[in-house]
Amino acid sequence: MATATARVFNFAAGPAVLPLPVLEEAQRDLVSMPGVGMSILEMSHRGKFFEGVLQQTEADIRKLAGVPDDYKVLFLPGGASLQFSMVPLNFLPRDGSADYIVTGAWSQKAVKEAKKVAGVSIAATAESTNFNRVPAQAELKLNPNAAYVSFTSNETIHGVEFKYVPETGHVPLVCDTSSDMFSRPLDVAKHSLIYAGAQKNIGPSGVVLVIVKDEWLKKRVDDPRLPTMLNYAIHAENTSMYNTPPCFAIYIMGLVMKWLLSIGGLPGIHAINERKAARLYAEIDRTGYYKGHSQKDCRSLMNVTFRLPSEELEAKFAKEAKAAGLDGLKGHRSVGGMRASIYNAFPEDGVAALVQFMQEFEKKNG
Ligand SMILES: *Cc1c(COP(=O)(O)O)cnc(C)c1O
Repeated sequence: MATATARVFNFAAGPAVLPLPVLEEAQRDLVSMPGVGMSILEMSHRGKFFEGVLQQTEADIRKLAGVPDDYKVLFLPGGASLQFSMVPLNFLPRDGSADYIVTGAWSQKAVKEAKKVAGVSIAATAESTNFNRVPAQAELKLNPNAAYVSFTSNETIHGVEFKYVPETGHVPLVCDTSSDMFSRPLDVAKHSLIYAGAQKNIGPSGVVLVIVKDEWLKKRVDDPRLPTMLNYAIHAENTSMYNTPPCFAIYIMGLVMKWLLSIGGLPGIHAINERKAARLYAEIDRTGYYKGHSQKDCRSLMNVTFRLPSEELEAKFAKEAKAAGLDGLKGHRSVGGMRASIYNAFPEDGVAALVQFMQEFEKKNG
C-alpha cells in the first residue's frame, strides 16, 4: 500500500489534491471519532457531533472570508452543475432575462441551463479567441433590467481568471468560484450569490458551498412547481439539513477551512498561490519553447495551461512526467497541451519539480 511519503505530485483539475494534514487527521479519526466511538461515516446527521461539525465549518468559513451577517452559508448537493439550474430557477423570472459573461466551458454550461428557464443575454464572450482572455469591464454589455449577472471567476479548463469583480450597479451579481474559491481574498459583499463545488479547492466532491444574501433570497421567483430540493429558501430555513447532507464531505471541508486559517487565511494562501504560479509562468515564458494559452493579464493562479511545439511532444511530455511522479498534467481536449492545476493544497516543491522537469525536457527535445 502507498504511504504518505509515496504520494505523487497530483496536478489533476478536480477532484484534486487535499492538504496532507487534513488527510492524516481524517485517517487518524476515521474508524472512531475521539469521544464519540464511531466513524464520522456512521453517525446521525442530527446528532450533537455532526451538528457541531456543521456549525464550526460555517463559523470558520465566515471568519476566513469575512462573510457578512446578512448572508447565509449553505452546504448543498448536486455539484456546481446543479447550481447552473438552481440559480435561474430561483432568481430568473420566466418572462425575464439574465446577463451571462462567457469566458470558457463552464460559463457556457451555465448559459445552457439558464436558457431552459428563461431569457439569457451574453454580456460578453471570449469564444472567438478560444477563451484565452477575460473581457474588461468596459466590454460588458450589461442590461440594467437583468435579473442578475453571472460570471465564472476562474475557468478551470482554459486557465483564465478574473482579476476584477464586475461592476453591475444595482443588478445582483452571481459567481461560480468552483476552481478558485478561497485561493485569494474575496469581497463577498459585492455578490448576491457565490457557489463553489468543493472538489477543486476546498474539499472532496459531493458538496457545494453556497453563500447567498438574505435580501436576495427574499426576492426569489415564487414558483409553486419548483421542487423542494431545488429551493434555496428551504435549504436556508433548514440550515442545510432539509435532508441528509453530504456529512463526510462537509467534515473534510471543515478540516480544510481549519488548515487555511492556520496558514494565514486568504492573504496567506494568496501569497503562496502567487508564488507558485509566478514560478511556473516564468518557466513557460523563459525561452518560447512552451506557450501559455491565456493572455498574461488574465492568467489563472490555479490552472496553468500551456502548449508544446507539437502534439507528439505533448503526448511524450505527459507520459514522461507521469513516470517521474508528476501526475494529471494532460490538458483538456478543448485547449490541448498541458494543464497544471496548482490549487491551494498543491505543494510548492511540486511546482519546483515540474519546473525542473520542464527544463530537462526542453533540453532533450528542444
Ligand atoms: C468543475 C467545475 C464545475 C462543475 O462542478 P461539478 O461539481 O462537477 O458539477 C463548474 N464550474 C467550474 C468553474 C468548475 O471548475
